[in-house]
Amino acid sequence: MTVPDKYVTLSNGLLKDSQKEANGLRTDHWVMDKRHSTYLFFMGVGEYAIVKDKWRNIPVDYYIEKEYEPYAKQIYGNTPEMIEFFSKKLGYDYPWAKYAQISGRDYVSGAMENTTATLHGSDILQKPGQLIDENTWEDTIAHELFHQWFGDLVTAESWSNLTVNESFANYSEYLWNEYKYGKDQADYHQMKDVNNYIHNPADFKKDLVRFDYDSREDVFDLVTYQKGGGILHMLRNYLGDDAFFAGLNDYLKTNEYQNGEAHQLRLSLEKVSGRDLNWFFNQWYFGSGNPKLKYSYTFEPVKKQIAVTIEQTQEQPFQFPLAIDVYDNGKPKRYNVWVNAEAKSTFNFDVSKNADLVNINADGILVADISDTKTPEQNLMQFAGSKEFKSRYNALNGIKDQVGKNPAATKLLAAALKDPYFRTKIKALQLMDLSNAEQFKALGSDVEKLTNDPKTLVQAAAISALAKTKDKKYLPIFEKGVNAVSNAVKGSFRKCNCRYRSFESKCFG
Ligand SMILES: [Zn+2]
Repeated sequence: MTVPDKYVTLSNGLLKDSQKEANGLRTDHWVMDKRHSTYLFFMGVGEYAIVKDKWRNIPVDYYIEKEYEPYAKQIYGNTPEMIEFFSKKLGYDYPWAKYAQISGRDYVSGAMENTTATLHGSDILQKPGQLIDENTWEDTIAHELFHQWFGDLVTAESWSNLTVNESFANYSEYLWNEYKYGKDQADYHQMKDVNNYIHNPADFKKDLVRFDYDSREDVFDLVTYQKGGGILHMLRNYLGDDAFFAGLNDYLKTNEYQNGEAHQLRLSLEKVSGRDLNWFFNQWYFGSGNPKLKYSYTFEPVKKQIAVTIEQTQEQPFQFPLAIDVYDNGKPKRYNVWVNAEAKSTFNFDVSKNADLVNINADGILVADISDTKTPEQNLMQFAGSKEFKSRYNALNGIKDQVGKNPAATKLLAAALKDPYFRTKIKALQLMDLSNAEQFKALGSDVEKLTNDPKTLVQAAAISALAKTKDKKYLPIFEKGVNAVSNAVKGSFRKCNCRYRSFESKCFG
């Protein structure tokens, strides 16, 4: 690449030499000596600072606009740890000679996993006020990195089989979050993704592997990415971690530097697990939709049993493992059942009296649309009895129309403020209304404490919740917040419908 000398260049592989030319030009010679697909070819030129990092002996470079250079490590700095984590998880070391990341303005897409030279859109560029709240691009950094195996080392055989690139890259976001920030964070991230798919009815009819699309762009959708990630999570839970990751390793080794498709993934997973997976792939990869479930239960006092009936309301019934929590005397008991591909299935469980509550898909693993109506008391019980994030979050979300009307809803909000996961606290803070005297009495002092939570996003949500009281005793908290580093904390006053500069007269007048 011959460029004006003030510019740096980036391409696939390694920079072998760099020679000054006449007229202020320079020629850089990049060499990529391993096989990869044509669409992964990349050339980048521009005025960037190059911030150097390292994984084992492999260079890890961040090409960053000079204004953002001081924050390069805050933005990109987890990359070496991610490379190590994915290398270990897959039992397959990062296969390329270097890894570089660069960002571009006016980019047509979010990011692109060019082999050894990932390009990010400019939204990756964040400053400390944003980064202290959350590095909103970290999931994408993990996603594009994971493509270096699933996409670049083994490339989808055609756009029809894009799932073997994108569903994996999507699921890598789960894996990274689970490892780095805990399972609740991973579950939260995936819940948002899968809900986006579920709430987009047009996607219900699309097979994951799709041979009849109009434009290849159509395959880059919520089915291939978000639903596909959810499907891999089901597969992992069905097979267990050992078999699942051994299967991925076998798929990579068998198909390295070549193409892959969903059937090759199936064969690898079958080979290591000894299980037939046609039933799974036929319904989730070569079929469309998902279970849409209704359920009901009846108590049989003589047998001391409840009969739980699961109804699949979609046209084509699925078969799947399902976790059901039955609450007897306020305590949950987990049952793992197999639901056959039938419109209605009934399961009997022993109980001492009629169950207080039945929570289906209690582990949140099944990609399904579930109709649910629980009382605030049941939601409170589910919140208290669930280890899994999604069941707690669903319980909290389930009371949103009952806040201020039912004491159980207030108790649930109080419990949620003490949840180990910060997003649950934020959700509770958003649902409450502290201008209501009863809610304030029950929750106010806990909310005050959360204005010092280690997470600035929680602080911000707590300040917004307190702002609704319009109580002047909180002015010092607000005044301190105006000078906070966190953009979320600074912005939290706007939630009380005023600009913070004039909050005294508008909100507290
Ligand atoms: Zn991708």
